[in-house]
Amino acid sequence: PEAARLVASRVLDVPDFPKPGVMFKDLMPLFADGDAFRDVIDGIIAYHGRDSFDTVVGIEARGFVIAAAIAYATGVGVVPVRKAGKLPRPAYAASYALEYGEATLEVHQDAFTAGHRVLVVDDVLATGGTAGATLDLVERAGGTMAGFTVLLELSFLGGRERLAPRPVHALLTV
Ligand code: IMP
Repeated sequence: PEAARLVASRVLDVPDFPKPGVMFKDLMPLFADGDAFRDVIDGIIAYHGRDSFDTVVGIEARGFVIAAAIAYATGVGVVPVRKAGKLPRPAYAASYALEYGEATLEVHQDAFTAGHRVLVVDDVLATGGTAGATLDLVERAGGTMAGFTVLLELSFLGGRERLAPRPVHALLTV
C-alpha cells in the first residue's frame, strides 16, 4: 500500500552504524519530507481509528516525533518513554538485554489514569527489547496498550514475538 511504498522509498541503509556489522535503517529522510510524513501520520491514525486511544506514547527519541504528530492531529496528549535518568519525577523503570549489557527505559508513575488506552509508536522494531520494556511500563503505570505501530519492522530479528499476543502494526516489514 501507499504507506509501505513511502517508507520503502525514503529509508536509507547506513552500513556499520552504530557499530561494525550493523546495517542501520535511517528514516530521517521520511521525517524531513513534509508530504510523506503527513501521509504516514494520517495512515497510522486511520489504521487504528482516531477514537481507539486516549494517549500516545513515543519512545525516545524518534518515537517522540511520530507521537507528537499523532497527538496533535487527534487531540490526545503525548507521554514520553525515556532513557534512564531523564525523567524529573518518580518513574517506573524496565530493563532489557542488549547484545552487550542492558538498557533501561522509564515512564512517570502518574503518566496514565487507570484504563487509559495507549497507542505506542516508534520508528523501527528490531529485536523488540525496546517495545517489550515499553509495554511493561505502560501496563505498570495503569495503561492498556491499544496498539503498537512502527514505521519499519525488521522481521528477521523477531521483535514481534516480544509483544505477543498483542498485535504489532508495521507500515513496512522487511
Ligand atoms: P530493538 O529494541 O532491538 O527492537 O530496537 C528498537 C529501538 O532501537 C527503537 O527505539 C529504534 O529507534 C532503535 N533502532 C534499532 N535499530 C534501528 C535501525 O536500524 N534504525 C533506526 N532505529 C533503530
